[in-house]
Amino acid sequence: MDSPHHRYLSGLQQRELRYQRCSACARTQFYPRTLCRHCGSAELDWLTSSGDGVVYSVTWLYAKDTPPSNIALIDVAEGFRMMSTVTGVPTDVPLIGRAVRAAIADDAVVRFELVAP
Ligand SMILES: [Zn+2]
Repeated sequence: MDSPHHRYLSGLQQRELRYQRCSACARTQFYPRTLCRHCGSAELDWLTSSGDGVVYSVTWLYAKDTPPSNIALIDVAEGFRMMSTVTGVPTDVPLIGRAVRAAIADDAVVRFELVAP
């Protein structure tokens, strides 16, 4: 049987952002687990996210000899929050509350991009 993590990674290789919804309590969770983190049920459905989200918080990282990068928490439309990064934005652009969309590249990593206002 595939582990939840393996199943999640398989989704990324197909450019799908997968998450779980509990059949017992109907709540979503991310990252994927074997049991519902809300009620303990093992009855978890796998779904594919639209990739739409809103930036909840962001922290910029400044390291010597590399361009600034950020770590962001994204509230994804289907009701879970995930850690990622928002690419292609300068450091002086406010990001909290901005609409973003997931982009899964060939490296099977989820990054988010701003949705044009
Ligand atoms: Zn549950």
